[in-house]
Amino acid sequence: MKKLIAAVLVAAMSISLAACGSKKEEEPASAPTLENQETEAEAPQPEAEEPKESEPATEDPAPSSEPAAEFTTVTEGVLTMGTNATFPPYEFYEGENIIGIDAEVAELLAEKLGLRLEIVDMDFTAIVTSVQTGKVDVGVAGMTVDEERLKNVDFTDSYATGVQVIIVPQDSQIASVDDLEGKLIGVQEGTTGHTYCSDDYGEDSVVAYNNGATAVQALQQGKVDCVVIDKQPAISFVEANEGLKILDTEYVIEDYAVAVSKENTALKDALNAALKEMIDDGTVQKILDKYIKAE
Ligand code: GLN
Repeated sequence: MKKLIAAVLVAAMSISLAACGSKKEEEPASAPTLENQETEAEAPQPEAEEPKESEPATEDPAPSSEPAAEFTTVTEGVLTMGTNATFPPYEFYEGENIIGIDAEVAELLAEKLGLRLEIVDMDFTAIVTSVQTGKVDVGVAGMTVDEERLKNVDFTDSYATGVQVIIVPQDSQIASVDDLEGKLIGVQEGTTGHTYCSDDYGEDSVVAYNNGATAVQALQQGKVDCVVIDKQPAISFVEANEGLKILDTEYVIEDYAVAVSKENTALKDALNAALKEMIDDGTVQKILDKYIKAE
């Protein structure tokens, strides 16, 4: 329960952060993004040659013309992103290309840093190590900021909220999170859902699959009683598979952020500055809205 409260607190903080970022809070949720952009585009820009410096530098005493500390990347001129492209709508394949929320956010982050984005698809469990060992610069994978991972990598500020939900067969006896005791729970290996379920219900109650789609397949075949996974992929999987539903009850609320090496704080700072601009001007919200249907 403590975990849930902490997660809710973090989520509440990020919601209020998001609210600060939205310049016109009273307007309906669907309108502000476009409107802010138009307003900004039309507003006179006295220092048009430095559009990135349009916000007051309250936290950073350094002169605005002075760039932050230099960052390096694994390959010069390239931001190499590790992901696991089985996680719609954050990352998934469309033909040969990996698309989705994370791909779009990372593409724009790279652009703001003057870099070209390269995406490396790998097992989810390999992402943190790849960041840590300098195989990739960043892990962008709907990845939850989590204490265990923080021992090995840093995270940028959060750009989205994740929710762990429970998928069950339509005729399941499981009606809420309180019914999971004694049930066989399918999870995606190495995810926070895996950790929570192992902690709360014991290793023996959990079956870990290589990815979410395989876990959902196992559910359909009756090999597990439910699947605990992030809400947005859950919605995609349930849409694509007959006879399943997502319980209304939410298990844990969490924050997604970009994993960066602890050795590369300059890159983390640069990413945070770019991310802040993209949150403040509504770009991140626009990307989320493109892929996530309003409920
Ligand atoms: N948000 C979950 C985690 O970070 C799942 C992420 C994923 O499977 N891509 O563990």
